[in-house]
Amino acid sequence: MFRLLIIGAGGVGTVVAHKAAANPVFTEIMLASRTKSKADDIAEAVAAKIGRRIETAQIDADNVPELVALMRAWKPDMALNVALPYQDLPIMDACLEAGVNYLDTANYEPKDEAKFEYSWQWAYHDRYQKAGLTAILGCGFDPGVSAIYVAWAAKHHFKEIHTLDIVDCNAGNHGMAFATNFNPEINIREVTQKGKYWEDGRWVETEPHEIHQPITYPEIGPRESYLIYHEELESIIKHFPTIRRARFWMTFGQEYLTHLRVIQNIGMARIDPVMYNGVEIVPIQFLKAVLPDPKSLGENYTGLTSIGCRMSGIGKDGQPLTYYIYNNCDHEQAYRETGTQAVSYTTGVPAALGAAMFARGLWTGPGVLNVEQFDPDPFMAEIGEQGLPFHELFNVDLEV
Ligand code: NDP
Repeated sequence: MFRLLIIGAGGVGTVVAHKAAANPVFTEIMLASRTKSKADDIAEAVAAKIGRRIETAQIDADNVPELVALMRAWKPDMALNVALPYQDLPIMDACLEAGVNYLDTANYEPKDEAKFEYSWQWAYHDRYQKAGLTAILGCGFDPGVSAIYVAWAAKHHFKEIHTLDIVDCNAGNHGMAFATNFNPEINIREVTQKGKYWEDGRWVETEPHEIHQPITYPEIGPRESYLIYHEELESIIKHFPTIRRARFWMTFGQEYLTHLRVIQNIGMARIDPVMYNGVEIVPIQFLKAVLPDPKSLGENYTGLTSIGCRMSGIGKDGQPLTYYIYNNCDHEQAYRETGTQAVSYTTGVPAALGAAMFARGLWTGPGVLNVEQFDPDPFMAEIGEQGLPFHELFNVDLEV
C-alpha cells in the first residue's frame, strides 16, 4: 500500500501522473492542483492511456492549513511536488504537520527575489529526521539525474572526481518565435540571472551568458553553450568534496537570446509589482499569461534533448580518467507517450521513479536529502526502461 499525492497539474505533473499510474507500487494516486479542471483533464488522459483512474482535488499549495487538511483527509504516504519552487516550503511544512514524506524537482525560491539555494530546505533536516520523515530534494533531470550520474560515477568509476561539467542541450524545434520549455516565470528568472561556477573552493560569478563556447552533443552536433548557475552545483560540491571545478552549461539559440534581451530591456522580466490601471501586476507573471503554455508545445515539437555530465579525475585503477554519461530524449516520442514535450518528460520520469524508489524501500533514511545521497544503483537499473536510457563514454575529449 502506497498512496501518492502529486501536487501541480502542469507539464511535469502530466508526465508524473502517467508514469505513476503505470507503476503498481502506487496503490492510490491523487493529483491536486490550483485549477482542478487541469487535473481532471490529465486524469482523463491517464485513464485513456493507462486504463487507470486517478483521483483529483483542488488545492492552493501556498496555504499550509489547506494542505494539511487535504493530507489528513486523504492520508498520502508521500507528497510529490511538481507545482512551482515557491510552494516547496509550504508543502514541506504541511508534510511535517501531517506526517507525510516529500519529494520535489526544484529548490525553493522566494517570490520576491530571483535567488535559489538549498539553505531554506536544508534547514528542515533535523525536524524531518526527528519526525522520521524523508524529504527527497531535486529529483527531476537537472537537478536530479545529473546528480545521480555523479553519484554513479563516484561509486563505480572514479577514485576521485576533479572536474564536473553538466551539459544541457535542447536541440528541439517547437516552431514558435519564442516559448519556454517549462514554466516561463521560473525559466526566465533562472536564465537571466548572473552565471556562477565552483572553482578551487570558491564560487566565481560571471555576467549573464558571459562565458560560452560550442560543445558537441551526441546525435546533434556542436551547439553554442552558455555557462549559467544551476542549483545542483551547490549540493554536488558539498557531497563530492574532491570536485575542484563544477560548472553548468545550457544551449540557447540566437533567437531565444534576442527575445530574452528585449524582454529584460523593456522591463517585462521584472519580478516586483507595478501599478497598471489601478491594479498591481508583476510583469513577469503577466508575460507568462501571454506566452505559449509549455504544455501546448508538445504537439509540433521535433528533435532531441541531450543532458549529461562530463567528468575528469582519477579512475578506480589510479589512472587519469575522463568520462561522459548522458541521455538523449526525443520530443516526438515523449509526446506520443504522455502528450508532453521532452523537457517535461525528462523531469517527470525521474520524479516518479524517485518516488517509487522510496515506496519500495530502496531509498530510505529520515531527513532532508538530495538525490545523490541515495544509492544510485537501483535508480540507474530502472531509468532506462522508464524511458531515459543512459550512455557512457570513457577516456574521450570532454571539450570543456
Ligand atoms: P507548469 O507551470 O506547467 O505547472 C505548474 C503547475 O503547478 C500548474 O498546474 C499550476 O497551476 C500549479 N500551481 C502553481 N501554483 C500553485 C499553487 N499555489 N497551488 C497549487 N498548484 C499550483 O510548470 P512545469 O510543469 O513546467 O514545472 C513544474 C516544476 O518542475 C517547476 O517547479 C519547475 O521548476 C520544475 N522543473 C524541474 C526540472 C528539473 O529537471 N529538475 C526541469 C523543468 C521543470 P495552474 O494550472 O492553476 O497555473
